[in-house]
Amino acid sequence: MSLINRDLKAIWHPYTQMKTALPPIPIVRGQGACLYDENGKCYIDAVSSWWVNIHGHAHPYIARKVAEQLNQLAHVIFAGFTHPPAIELAERLLEILPGNQQKAFYSDNGSTAVEVAIKMCLQYWHNQGINRTKILAFKNAYHGDTFGAMAVSGRSAFTAAFDSMLFEVEFIDLPNASNIKSLTSGISQLTSKLACFIFEPLVQGASGMLMYEAEYLDQLMAHCRNEGILLIADEVFTGFGRTGKAFACDHLSMRPDIMCFSKGLTGGTMALGLTTCSQQIFDAFLSDDRLKTLFHGHSYTANPVACSAGLASLDLFLEPATKENITRIETRHREFVLKIKDHPRVRTTRQTGTILAMEWETGADTSYFSSLGDELYQYFLEAGIILRPLGNIIYILPPYCITDEQLNYIYSTIGSALDEL
Ligand SMILES: *Cc1c(COP(=O)(O)O)cnc(C)c1O
Repeated sequence: MSLINRDLKAIWHPYTQMKTALPPIPIVRGQGACLYDENGKCYIDAVSSWWVNIHGHAHPYIARKVAEQLNQLAHVIFAGFTHPPAIELAERLLEILPGNQQKAFYSDNGSTAVEVAIKMCLQYWHNQGINRTKILAFKNAYHGDTFGAMAVSGRSAFTAAFDSMLFEVEFIDLPNASNIKSLTSGISQLTSKLACFIFEPLVQGASGMLMYEAEYLDQLMAHCRNEGILLIADEVFTGFGRTGKAFACDHLSMRPDIMCFSKGLTGGTMALGLTTCSQQIFDAFLSDDRLKTLFHGHSYTANPVACSAGLASLDLFLEPATKENITRIETRHREFVLKIKDHPRVRTTRQTGTILAMEWETGADTSYFSSLGDELYQYFLEAGIILRPLGNIIYILPPYCITDEQLNYIYSTIGSALDEL
């Protein structure tokens, strides 16, 4: 039975306009940076399947480790019980995270990792009988699709239907040399109310790969730390090598109190969320009083199979070849930027590590919903490349195993799109 012309009416797809969107493309197999349809056509996955894949599809080593775990223990309740993959993954990750990260709390995706971080901060103050309940975040932030994560994300067309139900958040601009002073003095005026500051370090993914400098984030973080405002680094997207270092926070001198991970955590194999925190956060919950407990736990928290995928992915991530691939992609991106940056259709380019973004010159309409995005998307699909523009912003975010040949093909296809569209 062919999937290609089949009526796929049973499924409601995310981020898909109901009436006008083209039917989804059935994918039956993956290998390396390629996803294959049933006719064997390869689509190069230049967006790492929504930013999750880091070592390539159906990686045989991860597959073997996952299969072994499945035959051993598929799942067990994580309240009152524990298991080897969860223990080993937490210990090994804490070893490579900023030194103040001391405890790992599992959940099952990026949004829930953020929910946990927010609840840790709010209850941190609550447990001490201190009334600090406001959250500071960046305009344009994206922290997930659940209600708390939506609330700390920028208000946009995506949240419009729920805006009146989202709790109030203090939003500030991304920091730079000229506004840093006014940002910090603005924060000082709110300090007594502020529980925490949540941010995507260095790169705001969903808002269009917006990038900002470590120096000014460091200054903001230092200011918040002085004022007792807890710091949450949402590394759900930036974690595991995307920015050129293992974690975006490795570019900073300040350390966050809390960090959130998902996406690359299992190498793009399975859903898993992780929130890590400092001893100071944990100690605010350490009590004989039942009411000081963090009452949060998902059914599939710390699923052993997902944790084993995380461990296998970490093994691969720590191999020297992965670091070499990350450096190779960074260099190749940089060379490509030099070639196209003066093209009349290129408004601007930006790069942090393996993340390359370019804004298409459109004249006027630059919203996420601009039709240019759809046109570009179709153009690349026909060429066998998955690039998913955010409006007029094209970004390349490949699995680290992508070959030079595949990268060249992506670059040259972007080059033709610039000339033809
Ligand atoms: C994708 C993303 C999330 C949400 O993760 P999900 O697994 O999709 O729920 C949260 N924060 C950031 C920075 C993200 O990019």
